[in-house]
Amino acid sequence: MPKRVILLIIDSLMYPALEKAVSEGVAPAFQFFMEKGAVYPNVVTAFPTMSVTVDSSLLTGTYADIHRVPGLVWFHDEEKRLINYGSHVRELWKLGLLRALDDVVYRLNNEHLSQSIATIHEELAAKGKESASINALLYRGNTDHPLRLPALLTLFKPFRGRRKTTGARLFTYGSFARLGPSNQNGHFWQKYGFNNRFSAQELVHLIRADRLPPFTIVYFPDMDKIVHKHGPMDTKGIAQTDKQLQAILHCYPSWEEALYDKCWIIMGDNGQAPIRADRKKALIDLRQLLRSYKIMALKRGVKEDDEIVLAVNERMAFIYTLNLHRVSLAKLAETLRHDRRIDVIAWLEKDAAHVISGVRSGKLTFRPNGAQTDEYEQRWDVQGDLGVLDLTASGGRISYGDYPDALARLYSSLTSHRGTFLIVSAAPGFEFIGEGSPTHVGGASHGALHRHDSLVPMIVARTDSAPKHLRVIDLKEWMLSLLEGETMQEIRESDG
Ligand SMILES: [Zn+2]
Repeated sequence: MPKRVILLIIDSLMYPALEKAVSEGVAPAFQFFMEKGAVYPNVVTAFPTMSVTVDSSLLTGTYADIHRVPGLVWFHDEEKRLINYGSHVRELWKLGLLRALDDVVYRLNNEHLSQSIATIHEELAAKGKESASINALLYRGNTDHPLRLPALLTLFKPFRGRRKTTGARLFTYGSFARLGPSNQNGHFWQKYGFNNRFSAQELVHLIRADRLPPFTIVYFPDMDKIVHKHGPMDTKGIAQTDKQLQAILHCYPSWEEALYDKCWIIMGDNGQAPIRADRKKALIDLRQLLRSYKIMALKRGVKEDDEIVLAVNERMAFIYTLNLHRVSLAKLAETLRHDRRIDVIAWLEKDAAHVISGVRSGKLTFRPNGAQTDEYEQRWDVQGDLGVLDLTASGGRISYGDYPDALARLYSSLTSHRGTFLIVSAAPGFEFIGEGSPTHVGGASHGALHRHDSLVPMIVARTDSAPKHLRVIDLKEWMLSLLEGETMQEIRESDG
């Protein structure tokens, strides 16, 4: 039984590139962990395949129908405004930068992430166990921490009441809250400390100060941007991240000793699909496809005659109708189906999900709790053309193809928040754009339901135990079971 679990999340880490980097000899630390542990190349992540939703799933062991963080960008029905945790500075500016900062820095954890489900930090705290969260965007725990906001920000209204936040016992959130004494790598020109070096520096501080709690989660953000730019097979980001892993391993007299009574879990949070180099083809402009409707402008917010709202999450989008009588979901879906770059179009009618595709013919409807069972022991009632979601069925058992855990992931997203909306997901090679969306022509992008975006590698060193299923939502329970029975007190005593 390990006494401590250390979870390192590396944004956009993918198995094929990791394998390549190791074979080229540019990733010795990754190689060390892989040789000492078990390697699972294909763990299914949450949908949409965006970091905030994935991390919410990881922390709570649920999909978005329970944790209520629907995506990086989504429309808040009660407040009638687009929530955007920060896909691009340009877009944040249009929405009012301060409000967006308030959403990501404060409300994401303290308001949006559902209070009805406990995070792993909260469950551990309830058992008297400490945990640490370093640079994870989702961090909710039981301990109040002051937020060190840049002086200028504190002058603005939304932040006046935002002097503290509730996080894990040991808590780093860029330069807004940190553990170590040094702000090196934590300045505003270094993204306020949301970078790999600062993450590693804070973990090294915990190890050196002998303050490593039973559970630690460390988030390494830098690779996302590198993969977006250079594509899924790029190994430069892996080589750079490996340097940070080496710095962590070097805290111990030998790398072997880093493994002593500890379980290291190293994983990605989402995959990325390649995006074609031809801008005209690569970018699915939803404003163009839906030009016969009145679309909400970002800066103005919802106006009387607006008909639809776009919430673009790179290769996935929520499309909301503001007036069902004027714009029905079925009609919108029919319009979008003519675009062969959109491979999944889904919406809810009563409790049934309807799915069509611009690539595959036919129509599929499904609802939970039917007579068919899938690979994950979930029950469904599935009707129509299984091929729409690349499902196969034999003897009442459903298996998945190009869209891992598609039924649960789609259904959870369709029920993740209030509002009347469609979900669209792009085929590999393409991404959606709306007003001010970031683009990654000739690079890579994510958000979609497709396996390219949805499968992440996980290295576990070392324990023989494995999660019940290889999905991000199955990790919380497993990690808690790894730490069963140990308390901080016991650790201190056994450490002598
Ligand atoms: Zn990204």
